[in-house]
Amino acid sequence: MSSPSILWLRRDLRRGDLPALGAAHDAAASASGTGPGEVAVVFVLDPTLWKGAGDARRAWLAESLQAADAAYEGRLCVREGDPVEVVPALAAELGAHSVHVSRETTPAGRRRDRAVAAALGEAGIAWVETGSPYAVGPGSVRNGSGTEYKVFTPFSKAWREHGWPAPATEPKDLRLAQVRSDQSALTTLEDAREANGLPALPAAGEAAALERWADFRDGALADYGTDRDRADLDGVSRLSPYLKIGAVHPRTLLADLADGRRNLGPGADRFATELAWREFYADVLWHHPESAWHDLRPALSGMDYDDGGEAVEAWREGRTGYPVVDAAMRQLLREGWMHNRMRMVTASFLTKDLHVWWPIGARHFLDHLIDGDIASNNHGWQWVAGTGTDASPYFRVFNPITQGLRFDPHGDYVRRYVPELAHLEGPAVHEPWKHDDGYAHDYPERLVDHADERREALRRYASVRG
Ligand code: FAD
Repeated sequence: MSSPSILWLRRDLRRGDLPALGAAHDAAASASGTGPGEVAVVFVLDPTLWKGAGDARRAWLAESLQAADAAYEGRLCVREGDPVEVVPALAAELGAHSVHVSRETTPAGRRRDRAVAAALGEAGIAWVETGSPYAVGPGSVRNGSGTEYKVFTPFSKAWREHGWPAPATEPKDLRLAQVRSDQSALTTLEDAREANGLPALPAAGEAAALERWADFRDGALADYGTDRDRADLDGVSRLSPYLKIGAVHPRTLLADLADGRRNLGPGADRFATELAWREFYADVLWHHPESAWHDLRPALSGMDYDDGGEAVEAWREGRTGYPVVDAAMRQLLREGWMHNRMRMVTASFLTKDLHVWWPIGARHFLDHLIDGDIASNNHGWQWVAGTGTDASPYFRVFNPITQGLRFDPHGDYVRRYVPELAHLEGPAVHEPWKHDDGYAHDYPERLVDHADERREALRRYASVRG
């Protein structure tokens, strides 16, 4: 093999609309001088990250890698170990002249990449970052005085004005190098696929992502503005696991939304705004890496929190006695995914009804969500907890009963996940305490009284705010 370039995939497990692939191809061609040259495509299974992931996350990654391998014609090389050692060693083994990546934007990813780039630099191998997992790279949208936006609405306006390039085209004469994988890594991934006890994991990979997008775009998108809050309907895209792993890039979706020939209606604009939330939180994390695990705003730093004890365990397992909270927490365990409205309701329950600091809940979500993303998750939690960017003052406390009645009006969502309540018809499922047979099948009593805990939350809030 002549000196190849390496494309190191991380949060970009796809082949289409991948600028780093184009850059790796061009570098290989110019190194070869006589033809396209070869690109070695690699994924590094980092045991530190792997250990921290729950079964669903591991299975999702394993399935997604299998799909990526197929997309790269069986030539995805998987190596296992600390990337700071593995990537330079692979580059030396192959005699590679450059390593290409999509720019990483999380604090841990940025630290790791600095270390890998430094090690490669010592060996005279180029480190090239092209694109990122976002339409607009975090850190790029600035206000008139050159600083970051702290509030979503002006950010999203400036983000749209900033704009993004058209989707990248795939190099036509791409030649993929055949590079041996680590057998141990392949076995680890195989085991994760087999251990996956989740019946409802979606089909993985770029083709599945694009198919899901096309179904949603031509169907539920029309009513997205009204149905997106309904937990009982299939009214949202469920693209987050694909976006997380990079099986599809938001630029691809935005280009489709803007395609005038499609005439997608007002749902399209609303959907682009939701993608802007993802970009906003990545931008916040870029500017404030410490906000991953600490309050972004110190306003509540003197807050008195409980450790929650057994109650946190009941929350994790979906045994709080509040039907919609329990349905959502069980959805998370069963599917590795939860509806957005329910993420807000369950996060509010932990922080305001059980008075537990948000990182405890954020950790649990990250362990189980197949779309688990430190920027969206941890800032979503801070938004609910009242320590985050804007909008949600601490005194907004979600009522788990009225939220259920509004966003699961026929009770179908609760019945889907809480069999102990399946005998109750219609919205009765949200208030089993009002029915003689409400507890006939061992559904747990309410852990706390919401009205009391709401008052207690406001008391604690008032005491830190003076
Ligand atoms: P759709 O409604 O179809 O939206 C399309 C896309 O827009 C999503 O896939 C997502 O990329 C983006 N998006 C939508 N809403 C938000 C939002 N509020 N914040 C950021 N991006 C958004 N999203 C994650 O991707 N990973 C997480 O770990 C995560 N954790 C969350 C934790 C909490 C407490 C809260 C309140 C929200 C969290 N979100 C997270 C945001 C949101 O709940 C999910 O993105 C959404 O439910 C994914 O489903 P969907 O793809 O069907 O969304």
